[in-house]
Amino acid sequence: MSKILIVEDEVAIADLEKDYLELSGFDVEVANDGLLGLQKALEEEYNLVILDLMLPGIDGFEICRKIREDKNTPIIMVSAKKDDIDKIRGLGLGADDYMTKPFSPSELVARVKAHLARYERLIGSAAEVNKIVEIRGLKIDTTARRVWVNGEERAFTTKEFDLLTFLASHPNHVYTKDELFSEIWDMESIGDIATVTVHIKKIREKIEMDTSNPQYIETIWGVGYRFKV
Ligand code: CA
Repeated sequence: MSKILIVEDEVAIADLEKDYLELSGFDVEVANDGLLGLQKALEEEYNLVILDLMLPGIDGFEICRKIREDKNTPIIMVSAKKDDIDKIRGLGLGADDYMTKPFSPSELVARVKAHLARYERLIGSAAEVNKIVEIRGLKIDTTARRVWVNGEERAFTTKEFDLLTFLASHPNHVYTKDELFSEIWDMESIGDIATVTVHIKKIREKIEMDTSNPQYIETIWGVGYRFKV
């Protein structure tokens, strides 16, 4: 479900926007002041931010600029004054859209949907270039078959790489050794489930800080393994 942040100091407007967006199936959070809004936008993950311009504490211009310093989250800026909208456009703060209050809630919902769809397409086409799996300090480029741990590249054998990528691509799913063996090794290969154990050990030596207390691949005793996120 897409998660949306509304930064709006006028409670009645924020509530109206929230109601309409929730009716359309979005998960919505509201921040009634600028500093709280900025903090939420930076620390949490939202699919889109609706940002009012005039806010107590810190205004929408500054919030937009600060969000853009490290996030691509789509931002729709709203203002009561048409002049302000022109000003925002002129400043090139990186907002994706602008709306002048008052607007109809259905128009807001339509624009939110349009921006979410556009952003999905953007992410989708970027992902086609190189498929990257990134979990905490571990980064796997599944296209180039390269792995980095805290920015440092590590070398993997083909099967180690396949096993790590398979587990990391199915986080929180517990697999038995049998399942992993048949997934990674083809039928003709000689070996048994002990091969899986050996490979897991090798992978842990390369990606874990402390192999006796693994942070990525967890052993589920009597069952198998799970990639933790
Ligand atoms: Ca306001």
